[in-house]
Amino acid sequence: MAILIEHPCVQHKLAFIRDVDTGHKKFRELATEITKFICYEALKNIKTKEVVVETPVAPAHCQKIDTDIVVVPILRAGVGMLEGILELVPTARVGFVGLFRDEETKQPVTYYERFPREIEGGTCIVIDPMLATGGSTVAALDLLKENGAENIVVICIVTCPEGIALVEKQHPDVAIYAAAIDERLNEKKYIVPGLGDAGDRLFGTSY
Ligand code: URA
Repeated sequence: MAILIEHPCVQHKLAFIRDVDTGHKKFRELATEITKFICYEALKNIKTKEVVVETPVAPAHCQKIDTDIVVVPILRAGVGMLEGILELVPTARVGFVGLFRDEETKQPVTYYERFPREIEGGTCIVIDPMLATGGSTVAALDLLKENGAENIVVICIVTCPEGIALVEKQHPDVAIYAAAIDERLNEKKYIVPGLGDAGDRLFGTSY
């Protein structure tokens, strides 16, 4: 299931992050801001518990988040979304997945994985700005589930029908939150119109 965040504040920022003339400093700031808004929506139904706190006036019945939150950036571009999540959920733990594409088999190969043990029983948020073919996302979800994760959402900035279809086929229990669902992939597997190579644009490498 893909959930599109149509709020004008998100769509406004998306117009700037897509722009070829937006440099890496501004791109990073926008990635953080957009991610924070999407995460806010993605955590809307998160488990809470009632607590009573003393205000200066009287006891107040309040809600506190009642689940461990583990955010998992897919290296490298996912790191550009981490700050946005941590601004919203400063107590979140962080795991990492590094994947590269085997040029012969065309399959993603894991070169790095490190997860907090709280993925088991907690809420995991996989982050990658571009959910394109879906291959890396599915590989990250496979790894998380192999390590005991059961409750997982994916947050990306831009996705496309091909990526959504693969994740839905392989992991129908995982919701995908995105600021845009674009038209398609081109022959180089870039999202069209997309925003180019998110890693390069985030980190100021060539694009
Ligand atoms: N990765 C990117 O950074 N951009 C795309 O369009 C597709 C995958």
